[in-house]
Amino acid sequence: MKPSPKQIALERIQIILKEAQSNILSDPELAQKQASLAKRISTKYRVRLPYDIRMQFCKKCKSFIPPGVNARIRVGRSTLKSIRITCRFCNHTYRKVIVQPK
Ligand SMILES: [Zn+2]
Repeated sequence: MKPSPKQIALERIQIILKEAQSNILSDPELAQKQASLAKRISTKYRVRLPYDIRMQFCKKCKSFIPPGVNARIRVGRSTLKSIRITCRFCNHTYRKVIVQPK
């Protein structure tokens, strides 16, 4: 079975983001470029990014914000398990409800 263009695109996105993650500390500018490239690929091929990739982009300014590097993450104390992510670039805070992947 031949992989569909969407599968190839997703694979490339994952490879690029992995690179971006390893560059984020040594070369943040390059990492941002790689991240926006990955984002462009996903738009071009209309690939829906998996949850773990989507949460690495700020919803407001679309910056690449890998956890612990460009984002502050706090765990909510309510009964609903959630984390709060604050973007370092635009200070936008959003909440994610933690859903255990099955
Ligand atoms: Zn932001």
